[in-house]
Amino acid sequence: MTATDVFINSAAENSARNYNPLPVVVASAEGAWMTDVEGRRYLDMLAGYSALNFGHGNRRLIDAAKAQLDRVTLTSRAFHHDRYADFCAQLAELCGMEMVLPMNTGAEAVETAVKTARKWGYRVKGVPDDTARIVVAANNFHGRTTTIISFSTDPEARDDHGPYTPGFDIVPYGDLAALRAAITDSTVAVLIEPIQGEAGVIVPPEGYLAGVREVTRAQNVLFVADEIQSGLGRTGRTFACEHEGVVPDMYILGKALGGGVVPVSAVVSSREVLGVFRPGEHGSTFGGNPLACAVALEVLAILRTGEYQERAAELGDHLHQELQSLAGVPGGPVREVRGRGLWAGVDLDPALGTGREFCERLVGRGVLAKDTHGSTIRLAPPLVISKEDLDWGIERLREAVARG
Ligand SMILES: *Cc1c(COP(=O)(O)O)cnc(C)c1O
Repeated sequence: MTATDVFINSAAENSARNYNPLPVVVASAEGAWMTDVEGRRYLDMLAGYSALNFGHGNRRLIDAAKAQLDRVTLTSRAFHHDRYADFCAQLAELCGMEMVLPMNTGAEAVETAVKTARKWGYRVKGVPDDTARIVVAANNFHGRTTTIISFSTDPEARDDHGPYTPGFDIVPYGDLAALRAAITDSTVAVLIEPIQGEAGVIVPPEGYLAGVREVTRAQNVLFVADEIQSGLGRTGRTFACEHEGVVPDMYILGKALGGGVVPVSAVVSSREVLGVFRPGEHGSTFGGNPLACAVALEVLAILRTGEYQERAAELGDHLHQELQSLAGVPGGPVREVRGRGLWAGVDLDPALGTGREFCERLVGRGVLAKDTHGSTIRLAPPLVISKEDLDWGIERLREAVARG
């Protein structure tokens, strides 16, 4: 048995099987590259679903974390700590908003957004108690809690976890007329991903986000953008909403906000909206802790340079050009390519294999990527990737799909 087999077999014994990882056991990583327990190197084309936008072992982020580790790591929000105010101020500024409510994981931030929108509905909009509704999109992915999977349309995520939380209306993604029709006097929010990641990197039709902005404003409904995966540089802008010049009422952020070091998430909004909370009405032991704030402050400093947004835009154009040339081959294995910036969903001819099988072939060629549903591969390399490495990865993808 190889060292890889030993690790995988041991994990199979004692870990719940809620994942089916590719057969690679990572031991270390730097930049866009990971090294396994047998010394083989792999190009990371997933970047922890965008949690690693700034690369593995990013010097600035690791140094910020190390410095904070030696000072103070956790206070709980029972006390103030000296990194908190800066974190809130700088994150609000990046978002062009006023207030921040920090949590840890993405799902907690989505839960926070749901609670905030409902509370705003009752306290500010005047919706009768316990009747608030939130409009969401089909094929969404917002996390794994019981309430969030209650409005998932994916049976894998949803089945066997009922009874489900009521209060959600599901409309087709990208269909503005359906969204408009779903809004009633009880609607407090529209919650969508500006680009659906988990669904296969689905970019909505041109004008959709601007349309959602218009409809929600006209109906006094909050536009909540889940930018946990699409935000913080991935698409070539700080926020994916910017591609349509849209500013929502609330951003939900996570993943890259913690720099791949610690889980950091947040809801960011106006004073009118986040001002609804009084002490004791919501919270988290770890939310906004000193270590999280120190790392996130460095993430924000990196984002303010605009360097990574620019890289994602430039390298993303290149990536999409190359992928489109693959998709342009009549009868070829690539059916469709979607995405923005350094983010792509590649639909392969299902007759040639599942997305999983393509990803296994990629492993054999030294590239780590992840399938989504069916025959789609998702590519989201760290934004620090060099053009040479990106081209190398694209070449391996070309080989993997060519073998059919
Ligand atoms: C990953 C993700 C989440 C959930 O984040 P966790 O940190 O895994 O809880 C929510 N929304 C979107 C769009 C995501 O990509």
